[in-house]
Amino acid sequence: MSIKNYSQEELFKDGVRIDGRGANELRPIKLEVGVLSRADGSAYIEQGNNKILVAVYGPRELHPKHLARPDAAILQCVYRMATFSVDERKSPAPSRRELELSKVIRGALAPAIFLKNFPRSTIDVYIQVLQADGGTRCASITAASLALADAGVPMRDLVAACAVGKVNGTLVLDPNDVEDKLGEADMPLALMPRKKLITLLQMDGRMSKEEFLEACRMAINGCMEIYKLQRQALIKRYMVIREEYEGGEEEDA
Ligand code: ADP
Repeated sequence: MSIKNYSQEELFKDGVRIDGRGANELRPIKLEVGVLSRADGSAYIEQGNNKILVAVYGPRELHPKHLARPDAAILQCVYRMATFSVDERKSPAPSRRELELSKVIRGALAPAIFLKNFPRSTIDVYIQVLQADGGTRCASITAASLALADAGVPMRDLVAACAVGKVNGTLVLDPNDVEDKLGEADMPLALMPRKKLITLLQMDGRMSKEEFLEACRMAINGCMEIYKLQRQALIKRYMVIREEYEGGEEEDA
């Protein structure tokens, strides 16, 4: 979808968005857990046209050792976009945006992990965006929390994330790249769904107080929908593991 083909008014017309969705609709989401055999944990997400792969290593020994915390593990996140992930070739050098998003994603995941269980260790999360279409930080958080669970990292909860945008004066769930770039606002939110704790809240653009509260409600509902899909993906993964070990003889408890 090329940005230059759309005026602000065309973004939301007669209750329909440019990709055919209603205002309160997520893009189609596909989640898969345990996709890489060499990582301790891994996950893959497709959310609309976003395609993102996450690998987790650890908890493991940290080098250099002077970076270690004596009372807890450190969480290291690396968010990178492939050169072919966007319309115009992206430079392979790490950009300021990638460094910032690495930090933002770490902040959204850290509250969910029992870091104090693993002093002097590191947990490493590598995120590769293979194809980007808006909302990659949220999709990365959703997939990374699954990859952490797949690695057996003890967690208080999963983390699900999605954004709410504002286009042509209307709040829209899970904006795509065009809506993100041409819209009036973008508000990514990450949630620990069972604990109902928000671990990330950002805002780009302007919303009234009422719009902000409604956007929070929409984003939280979006995260709860994503959480259901995360659980299904984890259950699917563990059914496969169980079949491998038990020959699939026992019924699910
Ligand atoms: P997010 O992906 O979390 O929404 P941004 O708001 O920074 O983060 O980016 C929005 C979208 O802009 C990205 O999802 C991607 O589709 C696009 N984008 C980001 N970086 C580039 C780039 N270097 N070249 C072209 N498009 C980009």
